[in-house]
Amino acid sequence: MEQYDLVIIGGGPTGAAAGLYSGRSRLKTLILERGMFGGQLAVTEDVENYPGFESILGPELGQKLMDHAEKFGAETKTVEVESVDLEGKYKTITTDGGTFESKALIVATGSMHNKLEVPGEDEFSGRGVSYCAVCDGAFFRDKELVVVGGGDAAVEEGAYLTRFASKVTIIHRRDELRAQKILQERAFANDKMDFIWNSTVQEIKGNGLVSTLVLNDLKNDRAYEKSVDGVFIYVGLTPSTQFLNGVLPTDEQGHLHVNLKMETIFPGVFGAGDVRAESSMQVASAVGDGATAAIFAEKYIAENFS
Ligand code: NAP
Repeated sequence: MEQYDLVIIGGGPTGAAAGLYSGRSRLKTLILERGMFGGQLAVTEDVENYPGFESILGPELGQKLMDHAEKFGAETKTVEVESVDLEGKYKTITTDGGTFESKALIVATGSMHNKLEVPGEDEFSGRGVSYCAVCDGAFFRDKELVVVGGGDAAVEEGAYLTRFASKVTIIHRRDELRAQKILQERAFANDKMDFIWNSTVQEIKGNGLVSTLVLNDLKNDRAYEKSVDGVFIYVGLTPSTQFLNGVLPTDEQGHLHVNLKMETIFPGVFGAGDVRAESSMQVASAVGDGATAAIFAEKYIAENFS
């Protein structure tokens, strides 16, 4: 079994920042990631609210953060964590690529995109249904697209899709967007963007590829069909804590309960970034969480393993 001072589960901005601080503390550090390093940044276009960078592409920022952690010695592995044992002095992390033992553990697994959970969504996933504008937007040149949701992601990614699509219609279940005001202003000023308010998607239909949405007009309690070439779904995020199997306490949505030092109820086990309750879900706050968790993990190790 490979041994580390600190294992960090999650290779997004939080994990990268924790790895940077841990590496500089000369802790033997391992960052585990099941998908793409960079987390949500890997599937984000422009980032305009990361301090110090007026505008930077999400994947580029994600890469810079990981490179920085690796520069100071953090190791990385692409594996899926299957379970954790937090009871002993050493924490055991079992993955599909081996088992690791660690003096301290940071859970920085972020979150996954929610699904709409409507008929047709799974059937047409990758055939007109997408959760990633950066990955799939270019396939819809001069096509008519729908984006479902009213938050930052829906409005920001909807605007990005207008680079390719002839028209992008945002379908929102209320009559007011949740997104930051600056994103709303840009969307309302964008000639290619349109809005359908007080409406939900009931069903996604097509023949091999998406062709039609069945919408529910909530104000008039009326169902009707709309022709589309593609639908991008941005209806919020769910924390990735399922692999913990209830070992750590969470709120109803699955966010970890931590204190201001990012400590969970298990000594030496920390939760940081989007995965924790009350996170502001920003890249800037994610890296702050990661740094905080690593600083207190180092303190914990110094006090308990010297
Ligand atoms: P979000 O802020 O939770 O917004 C989700 C949107 O989807 C809401 O408008 C919600 O409607 C709607 N919704 C939820 N369930 C739905 C359903 N079943 N059917 C139809 N609509 C549904 O999620 P997000 O936009 O993915 O953002 C997640 C977090 O990341 C946020 O904290 C956000 O600030 C952050 N983020 C920031 C940036 C940035 O700073 N540039 C970019 C992307 C994301 P209601 O409004 O009615 O609840």
